[in-house]
Amino acid sequence: MTRALFHGALAFAQARRLTLVCDRALARLLAIALLLAAPVQAQAQALTHQPPVTLVFAGDIVLDDTAGALIEKGQDPFAGFGDLFSNADIRLGNLECVVATTGSAGEKNYTFRAHPRTLPVLRRHFDALALANNHSGDYGREAFAEMLGLLKNAGLGYFGGGHTLKEAHTPLLIERKGLRIALLGYNEFMPRSFEADADAPGSAWSEDEQVVADIRAARSVHHAHLVIPVMHWGWENEPVANARQQQLARLMVDAGADAVIGGHPHVTQDIAHYRGRPIIYSVGNFVMKETDNDNQRVGWVLRLQLDASGVRAFDTRVARISMDGIPTPDASTASPCWQRGDASVGQCRNPD
Ligand SMILES: [Zn+2]
Repeated sequence: MTRALFHGALAFAQARRLTLVCDRALARLLAIALLLAAPVQAQAQALTHQPPVTLVFAGDIVLDDTAGALIEKGQDPFAGFGDLFSNADIRLGNLECVVATTGSAGEKNYTFRAHPRTLPVLRRHFDALALANNHSGDYGREAFAEMLGLLKNAGLGYFGGGHTLKEAHTPLLIERKGLRIALLGYNEFMPRSFEADADAPGSAWSEDEQVVADIRAARSVHHAHLVIPVMHWGWENEPVANARQQQLARLMVDAGADAVIGGHPHVTQDIAHYRGRPIIYSVGNFVMKETDNDNQRVGWVLRLQLDASGVRAFDTRVARISMDGIPTPDASTASPCWQRGDASVGQCRNPD
């Protein structure tokens, strides 16, 4: 009995020593892991707590008609929104025309080509422009390629288009306050003939598999903190997004998109949330003379507030568009706004 007790005590002591050894090894491993993780956590927390990066996005911009004539006379069709743009960290818009001197108009109902004199005015208000839409190819590939060179020389970034298919699908990276944001752009409104080819300039088309691969590569290859695809999609004059827009938006969020911004329907559409990520299906027109009903003459300028976790908040400014296609801010009309933690999108009047 005593002997059994002795052996039992010995076994207990040995087991206890083993446990202590294991505990110490575990504690050491834990300490190393914490040390390694600390800088990453600290960096992420610093990015989350510092002032957000503000990104504004304006819808369809066509500068070939009255707006182009205004610029020729030394005026500025964007002047009404000048303060909003100048107070933002990143200013984006959808350039719904080609800016070039070459090329010839394709067989379409509407073809838009703006003069390169519009570029300094664009540069005054914008950092980069989305090129994936159903008008950037209106004057053919030569004019599209000319535009790419002109934008670069003017100091304007672009996304959703390029000299080759590969470039059209490569994100534009913009870094502000330590936050690296990848912008992608896709058109899915006909004609598809504007699409870039392996060795031909043009825009990016939204094949689902390619979109998913692009979004993943934005993080894994280009080391972006946030990824935002800008879409050209949906049916014109429809106030609610269609099933295809919803399916693709969810696919993009599942692939890692932090927000989805869209346009083309010429009117604003509903706003959805999916897995905590906002989907602004259409911001409507911005500088656009070709309008044929009142709804087409009301657009939103979207403003996102971004941090390392994604969209912290967003609001919208109503743009009233004149019959000549020139927008002015409408401070009296409420429009969608939201902040992280809100269960649904609210309405704000003249935020700030
Ligand atoms: Zn369009």
